[in-house]
Amino acid sequence: MSANSGIATPRPLAQPLGDGVYLIDTLYLRPGLAASHLVVDDGRAAFVDTGAAPAAPRLLGALDELGIAREQVDYLFLTHVHLDHAGGAGQLMQALPNARAVLHPRGAPHMVDPSKLIAGSIQVYGEELYRQLYGELVPIAADRVLVPADGERLKLGRRTFEFIDAPGHARHHHCPIDLDFREVYSGDNFGICYRDLDTARGPFMLPTTTPVQFEPEALHATVDRLMSYGPRRIFQTHFGPVTDLERLARDLHAMLFELVSITRRHAGAADRRALIEDEMFRYFSVRLDEHGYEGNLACRHELLDGDVRLNAAGLEVWLDRN
Ligand SMILES: [Zn+2]
Repeated sequence: MSANSGIATPRPLAQPLGDGVYLIDTLYLRPGLAASHLVVDDGRAAFVDTGAAPAAPRLLGALDELGIAREQVDYLFLTHVHLDHAGGAGQLMQALPNARAVLHPRGAPHMVDPSKLIAGSIQVYGEELYRQLYGELVPIAADRVLVPADGERLKLGRRTFEFIDAPGHARHHHCPIDLDFREVYSGDNFGICYRDLDTARGPFMLPTTTPVQFEPEALHATVDRLMSYGPRRIFQTHFGPVTDLERLARDLHAMLFELVSITRRHAGAADRRALIEDEMFRYFSVRLDEHGYEGNLACRHELLDGDVRLNAAGLEVWLDRN
């Protein structure tokens, strides 16, 4: 009997995805909801999105697990400054002496001085839930921030990333494209594919239309631009790598059109929020049936309700702006 018998081996923090890419579950809200990706090339490393502050120890633990020294991390590629993507960046910058935070020009000021982000988030979540979800938002020194322009490139080890302006989910969203491996990091611009909704037909596309800068025309254009690179894989923050991209892009376009049309249909109703949510849930549920998903109503509500609520809120903001 070994000394370790009876002690379960802890699951590794970093799940290898091939091509030097690893996925780390940030455990935001629930397992399988939000991911950070770690890219390693020729002894240099970059995180793509960091999750919220409570995830920072998991990301550092993943480096330890892979034998990557903290000095080897060159970049935090932050797709945008929403806190499930970038909330933990400040803590990581303190721990990673050579890292630079790579942000969209419109997002960078909010990580250097996060006071508006904090105030806005407390307004949405309330002080207590905000602290629980996001901990402390640590500012990033301005001289450690890079703001690539649209189409600008950065080297990580031997591979090259191209950064593209990617509006649609948020005006301050950009996407890194790995030109050597033809892999795209979509942040929140290529929908959501929860692994719990995968079937024999592959991943299930859930469009995201969350507040406060959802712009359908821009999002359609961004999806097309991401696809114009002919990607082999897309890595979503929610959740992980997907293939079968032509089909997913088609589904995403179609579903965005449908959500916009649902919203327009209920625009004048007094209880429009409830009507939009209700119809959206039923629409997703029909699409899940077509996709061969067999989970019951309770499973569907558990997995979809949060996104349905956020999507409806974002669609209303868009509707009111127009
Ligand atoms: Zn997100």
